[in-house]
Amino acid sequence: MIAKDNKSFQVVREGFTIKEAIDEAKRCLNCKVPQCKKGCPIENDIPDFVHALSMGDMGKAMSIINGKSNLPAICGRVCPHEKQCEGHCVLAKKGKGIEIGRLEQFVADFDADMGLIRERLPHKTRGRVAVIGSGPAGLTVAGDLARMGFNVTIYDCQEEPGGVLMFGIPEYRLPKAVVRKEIKKIEALGVGFVQNCMVGRNNVTIDSLFAEGYDAIFIGTGTSIPQNMDGVPGAKLPGVNQSTYLLHCVNSFNEGAIDRDMIPLRKGERVGVIGGGNVAMDAARTAIRLGADVTVLYRKTREDMPAMASEYDDAVSEGVKFLWETAAVEFIPGEDGRLKSVRLNTPDGERVEDFARIYLAIGSKPANRIVSTTEGIDVDEKGYVIVTDRPVGMTTRRGVFAGGDVVHRPQTVVLAMKAAKEVAVGIAQYVDAIKLLEDCRIRIE
Ligand code: SF4
Repeated sequence: MIAKDNKSFQVVREGFTIKEAIDEAKRCLNCKVPQCKKGCPIENDIPDFVHALSMGDMGKAMSIINGKSNLPAICGRVCPHEKQCEGHCVLAKKGKGIEIGRLEQFVADFDADMGLIRERLPHKTRGRVAVIGSGPAGLTVAGDLARMGFNVTIYDCQEEPGGVLMFGIPEYRLPKAVVRKEIKKIEALGVGFVQNCMVGRNNVTIDSLFAEGYDAIFIGTGTSIPQNMDGVPGAKLPGVNQSTYLLHCVNSFNEGAIDRDMIPLRKGERVGVIGGGNVAMDAARTAIRLGADVTVLYRKTREDMPAMASEYDDAVSEGVKFLWETAAVEFIPGEDGRLKSVRLNTPDGERVEDFARIYLAIGSKPANRIVSTTEGIDVDEKGYVIVTDRPVGMTTRRGVFAGGDVVHRPQTVVLAMKAAKEVAVGIAQYVDAIKLLEDCRIRIE
């Protein structure tokens, strides 16, 4: 079955209407020991917000969600709910679990549109914190610290904040308008944003930020360097590109920033996507929307794929094909020097198939721009930042913290948020402690 909507970048899963949301919320049993909450990495108070929603009290539902999450409209759309809250819901075992993700999305969207909540915020007197990077980890740390009474400024290298949320996840899964509204809410908490600022270049460094008077600095720069296949012959041929490059180009095209011919894909081309994670699914589903004939090449089996089941199901229904246990062992050029075909190692032996383009989605690693321009921040052999348990998330340089993918390797949005929430507590404890020592006129070297 091929889905009708594989040609457009309109959202695939529409949200609930108000009646649908309340009807769905009324199905919740308000369990005494809610399994759904156990399945949520940030322990959202699910039964409580669902109950408030079932009573039509949107403001209360939003306040309950705000207690745990700064990005509910995003989590409601991109979290792997089937493995988390919804997968754990007792009703899932009896047939149809509560659609918690869509309920969270509904409440967050309703609040963004209606301006329901005006939070009472503490004065920002506890200290100054710089956050580097505005993806899920950076936004979470910034929002949590602002709510705790810290003065927070986010430094980000792009024109617009959002990081992977804005430039990595396709429009049909996470509309940019939703990300912008969520960021507006974080701005409303008093968080400042400095855009087009690449920390580690142009005289802005960790040291220069400390010199500006910040008490602590958080690095949440994610993993921006995609892995390549340099060991495979022909991996540098024109026509072999990164999936993240395709996704970035298409997001820019959808925003009207570039023309269609600047996207490295022509209609009707046969393309292969190498990988089995969510980035591979995003690239494959994006390529099919651009009119390509798309095949995902994955070296393991369907069961081993790290992509969300719903992403895989949608990709199949939109017409994406899959070759399992298949590895590219050579990229072969045509007479024009561009990629023409790929030698594949399959369970049935080697064969050569024509592909006009290949997009790689085999993982990514952190850039070393910040650690290479800062004394004293240790990284492991793969470049991931090493952090301590006490205070949570502090690097080997005092006062510099890190969290999210730059520490824990690439993972989902909500897991980056979970790690960042813990680090926000560590930063608060650290800044409180140094302020106390300063008040006692004790200086730590
Ligand atoms: Fe409601 Fe399901 Fe959670 Fe029980 S487990 S409280 S039914 S969402």
